Amino acid sequence: MVVIDIHKEHQEIWNYLSEVPDPEIPIINLVELGVIRNVEKQNESLIITITPTYTGCPAKKLFEDLIREKLIEKGFEDITINTVLSPAWNTDWLSEATKAKMMAEGISPPTDDNKVVICPKCKSENTKRLSQFGSTPCQSFHSCNDCLEPFNYFKCHR
Ligand SMILES: [Zn+2]
Repeated sequence: MVVIDIHKEHQEIWNYLSEVPDPEIPIINLVELGVIRNVEKQNESLIITITPTYTGCPAKKLFEDLIREKLIEKGFEDITINTVLSPAWNTDWLSEATKAKMMAEGISPPTDDNKVVICPKCKSENTKRLSQFGSTPCQSFHSCNDCLEPFNYFKCHR
């Protein structure tokens, strides 16, 4: 019974963390982004292990504050956030479901080595890059040669 309760509580904490949006792509939460690596509870103390997205991201420093803020809001007081940098975060950690969600929201998800960038509107692979940087440094700005839709592409990062 105790084991079940611990699992239930862990699930609850994961659920709370999935309420924290990625500061750069708010349609994706930190759990979907793969930033949260582990959740542990020792007595009343919560230990969250995170691997921030790449170091060039200005969002990096925000993650810790956002997580802390959410957990305090949920009534936790004793929160430790550990950062693990190895293995480094990479776009392979995005699940297919998360990529599909990005596509549905008009952001082209990372593809293998950035070889093919797919238009989120018409799914055409006939696209061109307009700018190396999109609305954030993690993204680049593209347009579709078929439907002419301009869109952001979440760059593949390994
Ligand atoms: Zn298109």
